[in-house]
Amino acid sequence: MSKLNGPLLAAAIVVACALPAMADNKPCANPNALGVSRVVEIDTTGGPGFGFQHYKSYDFLEPKEVVLTFDDGPQKFHTEAVLAALAEQCTKAIFFSIGKMALGYPEILRKVAADGHTIGSHTWSHANLRKKKTEAEAVDEIERGMSAVKRAVGGPVAPFFRFPELADSPETIKHLQTRNVAMFSTDIDSFDFKFRNAEHTIKAVIDRLDKLGKGIVLMHDIQPSTAKAVPALLVALKQHGYKIVQMKPKAPLQTLPEFDTAIEANVKGLSAAGSERPTASVVRTISDGPQSKLGGEPAPAQTTPTATMAAPTATADTPSQTDAGSDQKPKSWFWKK
Ligand SMILES: [Zn+2]
Repeated sequence: MSKLNGPLLAAAIVVACALPAMADNKPCANPNALGVSRVVEIDTTGGPGFGFQHYKSYDFLEPKEVVLTFDDGPQKFHTEAVLAALAEQCTKAIFFSIGKMALGYPEILRKVAADGHTIGSHTWSHANLRKKKTEAEAVDEIERGMSAVKRAVGGPVAPFFRFPELADSPETIKHLQTRNVAMFSTDIDSFDFKFRNAEHTIKAVIDRLDKLGKGIVLMHDIQPSTAKAVPALLVALKQHGYKIVQMKPKAPLQTLPEFDTAIEANVKGLSAAGSERPTASVVRTISDGPQSKLGGEPAPAQTTPTATMAAPTATADTPSQTDAGSDQKPKSWFWKK
């Protein structure tokens, strides 16, 4: 121990701060939690790429280290279930949110942020940018998505981006590089959207990890089967000796004012984060209905935040494509009720 030099000691301190019991300074109630073993800070200057399926420059993960990523949300119920599973294990992930989804369920994306996860973006409408006729159309998808995700969160988000269907192009890569946005591919594609089976997803991820030894894992928090798989997957990761690394940006995403303005037409009444009064201070039950006087049970207080009950506020048309994986066809998952 006495041989620890300065950088090693500093690294050790970072790891110690990120132990399960102290993740995000909140105590972890689960003594067997997977936790977060290491937090890494990413300098996104020049738009570095991560995930060896496409970008092979930065091999920063140690053996048995895993980065969890979830694409295409937020979605009612499924994203919430994924968040609950991650919280139970006191661990963190990156969520690559679609702009329209973010404005549809801002309250869920704000929960993602409040839980301490990293939030990146995944275009405005999940368009395959290689199929765009002009570079300007592709840039519009990227920038609108970024502005929408930031607006939905109402606070800083990461300059992290993943191409829908992992379909990058020289032009879009160059744009992201000039915008100092890190690009994410994957090491382990779970293909959860294709098989839609919880057991299959768990086995696919563990089998691929056991083969590669480490990696960035791609899943989708909008998939019911993935939401079902995540609790057992996290337990399996721990049992197999894997450790979770959280990636955070050195500096937040800087959106472009013209796109911040452009997406306001789709915001529809979303107030800035932190400006709302607590629902209980706005809505208070002062008289119960007749039913509550008949039986012994009083009517429950109205404590559920109204935001969680609301239909999506952004009701624009649906994304043209559905998935970050390589070949998924359009499906009807978008804003199912
Ligand atoms: Zn996707």
